[in-house]
Amino acid sequence: MEDLKQGVASERPVILITDDLFANRLALKKILKHVDADLIEADSGNQALSLALVTPNLALILMDVQMPGMTGFEAVEFLQEEATTQHVPVIFITAAHRDEQNSLLGYAAGAVDYIYKPVNTEILLSKVRVFLEMWTLQSVLQSKLNELESAHKVINELSQRDSLTGLPNRRFLFENIPSELARLGHSNKKMAVIFIDLDGFKNVNDTFGHEAGDALLRIAGGRFLSIVRPLDIVARLGGDEYVIILKDIAGDECIIPKLKEAVTQMSTPFVLAGHSVTIGCSIGVAIYPTHGSDFDTLMNRSDEAMYEAKKAGKNTFRIYCDSMDKQGVRRREIVEQINYALQREEFSLNFQAIVDVATGIIVGAEALLRWNNELLGFVGPDEFIPLAEATGHMNNIGSWVLGFAVSTMNSVNKACNAQLNLAVNVSPIQFQHADLYEQVAAFNKSSLTLNLLELEITEGLLMDDSEGLKQKLFSLVGSGVCLSIDDFGTGYSSLSYLKRYPVDTVKIDRAFVMGLPGDEDDAVLVKAIIAMAHGLGKKVIAEGVETEAQWRFLQDLGCDLAQGYYFSKPLPEEEFMHYVKEQLEVS
Ligand code: C2E
Ligand code: MG
Ligand code: MG
Repeated sequence: MEDLKQGVASERPVILITDDLFANRLALKKILKHVDADLIEADSGNQALSLALVTPNLALILMDVQMPGMTGFEAVEFLQEEATTQHVPVIFITAAHRDEQNSLLGYAAGAVDYIYKPVNTEILLSKVRVFLEMWTLQSVLQSKLNELESAHKVINELSQRDSLTGLPNRRFLFENIPSELARLGHSNKKMAVIFIDLDGFKNVNDTFGHEAGDALLRIAGGRFLSIVRPLDIVARLGGDEYVIILKDIAGDECIIPKLKEAVTQMSTPFVLAGHSVTIGCSIGVAIYPTHGSDFDTLMNRSDEAMYEAKKAGKNTFRIYCDSMDKQGVRRREIVEQINYALQREEFSLNFQAIVDVATGIIVGAEALLRWNNELLGFVGPDEFIPLAEATGHMNNIGSWVLGFAVSTMNSVNKACNAQLNLAVNVSPIQFQHADLYEQVAAFNKSSLTLNLLELEITEGLLMDDSEGLKQKLFSLVGSGVCLSIDDFGTGYSSLSYLKRYPVDTVKIDRAFVMGLPGDEDDAVLVKAIIAMAHGLGKKVIAEGVETEAQWRFLQDLGCDLAQGYYFSKPLPEEEFMHYVKEQLEVS
């Protein structure tokens, strides 16, 4: 109990003495002189009511029962109706006989007591002390309760904040937005759920360190805040994902300027530790009620739309539409099935000839992954590889491809007494794992001559400008393996990559070969790439050669190698073996 009393509010309790006779009030005050409380007095029921309602810390009322006008009972009845005075204990002081005790008992529900006139000093003092003690305990409990309540409020607020950016977090959204949507009901008001994923954030973390990454996330949050109104919400879901909630929007179209602004904000360079860093963002939008009536659906659909923005080349936005839902279902099916694809041996490889442009003779082949799933049938690599990368399966799949491609090409070379090169596509993910390097090292000891092996890398990989990666690439090349840049011209093409990295070959993307020889822009571009690559001592492969005219044109430009349906489609192992035999016999 003593413990509880510690920290009691510094205010003193107040006792209200009510009696119509001045002499009686004086007598009571004298008795209570040494009690640890402030005494105030009223000379009528009415005055007692007015005082009780406005006096803070009112711990006890001493109430004469028989008074002219309003009696003590009536006054207490009123007090019990008021929230502020309902629980203030009352001691009735009465000259009545004990047989009136019954009517007093009617008040027993409240903290009510009674005392008979003439007042016995000791009895009054002991009752008053009991009530004061109760008041003290009650106020301590109340202040503890208040403390707990405010601590609980703080904890709740913190649990709904992202500690890095100070923005609301996922929990905040899921605890608050559903009820806001419910309130919108049929009110014709719209709300946009905007799902944002930063593009290229991982590179920032890897290249400049986590502190720089954290700083970028904070600045990004601030930039998003700068483009919304105070009633809107900017939240960070975690990682490099943000959600903006735009409230009370007039129509679906009026959010487009906001989306453009968000894209511009994220593509404006960030200055981090003295470096200017450029990223981007992919944005998906779902609008209430057009695209869903509950928050879960809106979040899923804005996520689907964001995925479409990524697929469309990143740094752009997409608004949800029904066809995305089908694509979402398909994606989920692929993600589900890809879990078991290796184990069920559903993968196979096709080989597509790579020919010497000058002679048209096969000099090598590219291994291309094929997946035939029991439920989904044939699924193209462009569709499943990004999902295998996102779900953590690509390293194992890539290892399988490399191992199988090398052993197949070994057999082909042996059977045909040839020295064909083998090109294998390698996902950027594989460069983060030891498997690739260990596998290559092991080949060295096996029968494959490593300088027949060419790893096709993407320009995206070289965006990661870290020393670590550079060393790994140099050590691969040091072991005899060649590197080529696939789909050159479609990504972040930069001459500086070609100079900085030990790349041997540039593969011009099919998109630029397609227009040859008629399309002047394509012709200029292909010419420029060949001249530039040759200037840097690199070889050039043209992809997607489908016509003789294209081939002849490439010959004139001095392109080194070519690949495409004109020479051969990608073929399964056995057919490829036949093809090679045929070609080499003919030549
Ligand atoms: P890529 O590496 O650029 O492969 C060339 C793609 O162009 C292949 O598509 C091939 O079938 C197609 N192609 C070749 N010649 C022609 C032509 O004359 N006309 C047309 N229209 N297309 C042609 P595919 O096999 O669907 O592969 C698509 C992409 O999937 C590949 O593009 C590559 O980026 C990726 N990929 C395939 N296999 C693997 C793999 O084992 N690992 C990784 N990481 N990626 C792979
Ligand atoms: Mg390739
Ligand atoms: Mg390619």
